Amino acid sequence: PVITAPRPIQALPDQLISQIAAGEVVERPSAVVKELLENALDAGSTQISIRLEEGGVKRIAITDNGRGIPPDQLPLALARHATSKIASLTDLENVATLGFRGEALASIAAVAAVSVTTRTADAAHAWQIIGSHHGAVSPSSGAYGTTIDVQDLYFNTPARRKFLKSEQTEYGHCAEVVRRIALARPDVSFTLSHNGKTVDHWNVCDLAKRCAHILGSEFAAARLPVDECAGPLRLHGFVGLPTASKARADGQFFYVNGRFVRDKLLVHAVRAAYQDVLHGDRFPSYVLALELDPALVDVNVHPSKIEVRFRDSRTVHQFVFHAVQRALAATSATSFANAPA
Ligand code: ADP
Ligand code: MG
Repeated sequence: PVITAPRPIQALPDQLISQIAAGEVVERPSAVVKELLENALDAGSTQISIRLEEGGVKRIAITDNGRGIPPDQLPLALARHATSKIASLTDLENVATLGFRGEALASIAAVAAVSVTTRTADAAHAWQIIGSHHGAVSPSSGAYGTTIDVQDLYFNTPARRKFLKSEQTEYGHCAEVVRRIALARPDVSFTLSHNGKTVDHWNVCDLAKRCAHILGSEFAAARLPVDECAGPLRLHGFVGLPTASKARADGQFFYVNGRFVRDKLLVHAVRAAYQDVLHGDRFPSYVLALELDPALVDVNVHPSKIEVRFRDSRTVHQFVFHAVQRALAATSATSFANAPA
């Protein structure tokens, strides 16, 4: 092989760095929806509306009633590695917010046309920034809270745009992300619209009602409550009876400290608890939330934070397994007791 002279090593321009990062953070429109919803929740919002156009590719606009962003900080919101959520390694190890990397908005702004309109409680009016952290901050009108408007995803990265699936498929992924997050937060109201039509609206309610709205009446009619604590661990939610099981694993919602996760260890623990009551080819349905001291779980494993790592995974596995098994056993005991002799 011909060895050519080395090419010069150059620092990449900021925009290109963000576009590379966007490849991980912004896989598709639903990833934008997830990041924006997590920001809205981290801002303490109780009312969130999600407007999508053309599966989110044309537009994703999320409006919340959270604490907003002060105008002097608006450019930083769009800057890479800038966050209000952590300031030190200790903060990172104890992180209780959904976000902390400070790269979502910068990544999104690198691959789409973004505007942020926001008003804090003490501001006389709203402020807006358009485009990137270089954009000017100008007075605007709007209610308390924040609207982040993301248009024309991947307009400047056509190679990525080609990987997008049909509008319906992308919309489906977006709607799934909304459902996942809405299930975790029945204390927040959500409105989802697509192409100008309201598709779903969930009022503030309790978890049982939110489950019924999102998982349907079949689950609502055949679920058992779980609520157990052991030391620093708490597991609560609902497990579906075998009659609520499915041929696909699409009724499984597991949250760790409010974060939807798909974790092998947790899926295994729940599955094992169902072993005696469910055929091997059926998938149990459940909505389970594990709460623990943030210091006992590492969420900094993957940019999308869908995987987590537990400090003591054996204890977590045992705890989840036994809690679910006990919930399931409780009914078989009652149904035996109630059965005619
Ligand atoms: P991260 O969430 O990891 O901090 P982001 O890029 O998602 O990073 O957001 C950057 C910052 O912008 C956040 O730390 C937060 O201070 C602010 N921010 C983003 N979205 C909102 C929102 N909806 N309401 C209030 N502040 C927001
Ligand atoms: Mg964020």
